[in-house]
Amino acid sequence: MLRLTNTLTGKKEEFIPIKEGTVSMYHCGPTVHNYAHIGNLRAYIFADVLRRTLEFLGLDVHQVINVTDIGHLVSETDEGEDKMTRALSREGKPLTLAAMRELADFYFEAFKNDLIALNIKLPEHFPFASDHIAEEVALVQKLIEKNRTYQTNDGIYFDTAKMKEYGKLGGPTADNSEHSRIPPNPQKKHPRDFALWKFSAQGGELGYDAPFGKGFPGWHIECSAMSMKYLGETFDIHTGGIDHIPVHHNNEIAQSEAATGKPLARYWLHSAFLTVESGKMAKSEENFVRLQSLIDRGIHPLAYRFFILQAHYHSPLIWSWEAVEAAQSGFESLVLRVADLQTEVKNVSHQALPTDPDFFLEAITDDLNTPRAIALLSSFLEEKLPPNAKLATLYHLDEILGLRLKELAEKVRTIPSEILAVKRERDTLRQGKKFQEADALREEISSQYLVRDLESGTAITRRLDPSL
Ligand code: AMP
Ligand code: ZN
Repeated sequence: MLRLTNTLTGKKEEFIPIKEGTVSMYHCGPTVHNYAHIGNLRAYIFADVLRRTLEFLGLDVHQVINVTDIGHLVSETDEGEDKMTRALSREGKPLTLAAMRELADFYFEAFKNDLIALNIKLPEHFPFASDHIAEEVALVQKLIEKNRTYQTNDGIYFDTAKMKEYGKLGGPTADNSEHSRIPPNPQKKHPRDFALWKFSAQGGELGYDAPFGKGFPGWHIECSAMSMKYLGETFDIHTGGIDHIPVHHNNEIAQSEAATGKPLARYWLHSAFLTVESGKMAKSEENFVRLQSLIDRGIHPLAYRFFILQAHYHSPLIWSWEAVEAAQSGFESLVLRVADLQTEVKNVSHQALPTDPDFFLEAITDDLNTPRAIALLSSFLEEKLPPNAKLATLYHLDEILGLRLKELAEKVRTIPSEILAVKRERDTLRQGKKFQEADALREEISSQYLVRDLESGTAITRRLDPSL
């Protein structure tokens, strides 16, 4: 049984899929106006652990991560400049739909590469908002026909006053204009009303044709249209970062439910922020750190994944170089432990029966408690059990953690022949009690190799660096 905290009810609930044996999940995806920062990536590591857990439990997962390549304005509340337009000016590109798509494709590829480096399984669908204009227009049209909208001089707005239950997910929704530094449109009937469609600027060429006027879909309607297209009018799980609760997700719920009369998703899950001392990490701030910045400093991407998994997804996590470096050395120790077990077993049999994984599953199925699961796994590795069984269990459970422990341990054990020759030379020196010279040889290769003198003999492994 899997229990998840549902923001909709504020409770930890047992997860029961709509259709037995399958799960449909939608994760709000990146706005591709820039590289993803490592905070954004936390949201997708969380989604991946959720997917892996569901798969481990035998469910068939259908997953969508959308790509917001148009229509996301600087403020959550539909005011201010369009993020993509601003990015075009930043990069000195022409203000055209084609240039916008080129920019989107570039940052989407970078995003996808980050996911791959983090061993995040790619979803079944990665829909781009600009490829779903027809669905977005149809949804707006439906809301117009149902008399749930009104028009101002800059767009078509959703009339929240006509919604009895607006703001189901909670959050400070009553007057969300206070979250914005940009004054709200005075033509809006209520500050919390939101744009379904924004008209192109007077005489402006940039935009998509629609029966109600040329322009761009609102960010919220994109997610409703794309999630319903791929997963149906009601699907199982919808996730995003906690910043999406008050505005984006409340709005998705309001417009979707107004259009279909059905709940959009049954479980709404939100991951907490990665913060820096000065507050939230954001693409618009100067403080943003990319996965590549970690790699450039010698941090393995999976050490970053390990860092994230050491905190519960509900807990804010403070990022610092020191904390990530500590995670890198903790992760390296874990990989080394696995490498030692592999050496002990020599010929690891994949048929070796894993021990009962319940100790781990109890933690994971309790609202994805990864920090506890990792701590239990570390203790398990120290238990008096045959190394073969330990490895088989670990490999099995790593299907959920996604840390590629087997592969990384094998890689750190693979030593080129010239380094093995250095090791042999050192062994000879030690046998001749020439310890100073032996130490000097170790020093020579120490930036890339770790030499440990164990009871069983000298062990040599590669250090964990991002090239592995
Ligand atoms: P964006 O590309 O800004 O639309 O955001 C992509 C995802 O990253 C969303 O799920 C956000 O909620 C999430 N997110 C944004 N900033 C952070 C942060 N500092 N820490 C964790 N998640 C974040
Ligand atoms: Zn969304």
